[in-house]
Amino acid sequence: MTNFPNVRDLKPAGGRRSSKREQIVNVFLRQEGHLSADDLFDIIRNEDHRISRATVYRTLQWMVEAGIARKVDFGEGRFRFEHSYRHPRHFHLICKTCSRSSEFLSSDIEAIVEDVTAARNFTASQTVVQIYGTCEECRTGKKASAPDGYTELLFARDALRIAIATERSGLEFYTRAARLTQDARGRSVFQKLAEEERHHLGTLEARYKTLLDRDPQLESRPTFLFFKGAANGLFAEGAEQLSRGVNDQQALLIGIRCERGSHRFFKRYGERFEDSEGKQIFLEFADEERDHLALLIREYRSLVKRQRTAKRSTRSADAPRRVSSAR
Ligand SMILES: [Zn+2]
Ligand SMILES: [Zn+2]
Repeated sequence: MTNFPNVRDLKPAGGRRSSKREQIVNVFLRQEGHLSADDLFDIIRNEDHRISRATVYRTLQWMVEAGIARKVDFGEGRFRFEHSYRHPRHFHLICKTCSRSSEFLSSDIEAIVEDVTAARNFTASQTVVQIYGTCEECRTGKKASAPDGYTELLFARDALRIAIATERSGLEFYTRAARLTQDARGRSVFQKLAEEERHHLGTLEARYKTLLDRDPQLESRPTFLFFKGAANGLFAEGAEQLSRGVNDQQALLIGIRCERGSHRFFKRYGERFEDSEGKQIFLEFADEERDHLALLIREYRSLVKRQRTAKRSTRSADAPRRVSSAR
């Protein structure tokens, strides 16, 4: 399912080529979830009994430095390791009964961390959120619905869901704005944007279907990305404001604010993710929003200019009349 990187490409500058190292890295990348060094040694020992524990430990350390593996501490008195290749930074749920862990990501938590660190003028280097407790399987005996460490597809699924929700709320916003706008040119801009959102929505929905073909049960698997704020649609508030009654200029300004917020949101989170399909979805979407933003800003400027010219010509048309009435 996952395309593993070529070990040679991952070697840091000055790293020596070692077939043992390559073998260990390849075995590690085939595993899912969070492995201790001993777990990895046991697996490797099964394949090749000539590899020593010390070599496995050293290679793990090297993988961490090379950015292939990440060290995680679940409070068990030893580290565990997970892939960092095509695997976004995330938070963990850890079962105290079976020691298994599962992963999630949340822009809401990240936003809180950003608020707090900014308020305290603190530079964060790492944020760890770990929730300890009892997993569904240990509590109910019912088999968990997602395999361990199964995140890439869930990540792409949830990234697409958020992009689709945003696109839908954008479509709603521009459709409403086109209906309300008096200025003919402004109306055609909103119509054009609504058309674009509709087209992109179709593309995203098709991409979502392709994803479902890769795993028929994908829809029912647990949520990976918790983006509560964004999931409601970044344009929903703007659409709400439109319905309270605004003029053309205000409608354009609301559109600009929504597109800017959406562009920033998708860019900021997209850049944070490790290389993955979810990251691509976010960054492509951020680009699209930036184009819309630029278009709206151009339109806003030209509307303001048109209004100024109109006012000036009204004034000059008024002037002689005022003069004549004064006589
Ligand atoms: Zn459990
Ligand atoms: Zn993890």
